[in-house]
Amino acid sequence: MRAWVVDAPAPVDAGPLRRVEREQPVPGPGQVRVDVVCCGVCRTDLHLAEGDLPPRRSLVTPGHEVVGRVSALGAGAARFAVGDRVGVPWLGRTDGTCRFCRRGEENLCTDPVFTGWDVDGGYADACIVEEAFAYALPDGLDDEPAAPLLCAGIFGYRALRCADVPPAGRLGIYGFGGSAHLSAQIALAQGLRVHVRTRGDGNQALAAALGADSVGGATDPPPEPLDGAILFAPAGELVPVAMRALDRGGTLAVAGIWLSAIPGLDYAAELFDERRLRSVTANTRRDGEEFLRLAGRLGVRATTVAYPMAQAPQALADLAYGRFSGAAVLTN
Ligand SMILES: [Zn+2]
Ligand SMILES: [Zn+2]
Repeated sequence: MRAWVVDAPAPVDAGPLRRVEREQPVPGPGQVRVDVVCCGVCRTDLHLAEGDLPPRRSLVTPGHEVVGRVSALGAGAARFAVGDRVGVPWLGRTDGTCRFCRRGEENLCTDPVFTGWDVDGGYADACIVEEAFAYALPDGLDDEPAAPLLCAGIFGYRALRCADVPPAGRLGIYGFGGSAHLSAQIALAQGLRVHVRTRGDGNQALAAALGADSVGGATDPPPEPLDGAILFAPAGELVPVAMRALDRGGTLAVAGIWLSAIPGLDYAAELFDERRLRSVTANTRRDGEEFLRLAGRLGVRATTVAYPMAQAPQALADLAYGRFSGAAVLTN
């Protein structure tokens, strides 16, 4: 089968991805093989290719927003049948035994395995997933728009919960890409007032089209103080900007696996009055199940741009340069 691998991490223009021929993977106990129908392109893939995230394995295949069909069952795998449509997410496995797993916070597991970082992901014809960590996908959701829900969507949903906005409260969203445009739909459907701050005409137009209460440039102050905010842009310089925009007691949730350096905070203007700054780390399977149910019920739809699997490097470059709005999806 064909698979893209991260050869040597390098700036996206230097071509860090290489396409190779590999043996068809064989599922082990409790695992299934998934023939990839399509795979979303997440910013984490870009961080991995460019070396912002240290490689955990050489020649790993990126991709953790996989929609595909089960094509082989490992020993003891019984949750899915051959031919079933499943989603393969970022959280590939947890140990189930550490202090965090035991208290239901498997997103903080001390020994996790991530798809497309520790084990090969979906920029390929097929990949392997632990059946307990795969998702059944609701019918009525097409393959391509379902892909970004599997990381961008689930993670955006967790970030929204971490921002801790009360019912009918005011939410700020900084940066408006794959995750943001999905969590904005949930927030609006739940009756929050949503203020989007982002660069890029395309992103601003998408935010307006989805019904954001206000849309502005990345550093423009929102028209009202925020109960909570999510920083999706990997831009540390926006942390003080967003902290200043919070009301007393407000929370900023930083949603990204990588962030550029955060400048010093002005204590009085940006942290005092019990403003809170926190990060968002991965997700639990419960977050995923909840989000996919909600997404089906509320009609959350990903705005996608399709690329043939052969054009994975182009899709990553276009993500790096902000050349599309919404989420890119590679199709086989
Ligand atoms: Zn991701
Ligand atoms: Zn654990």
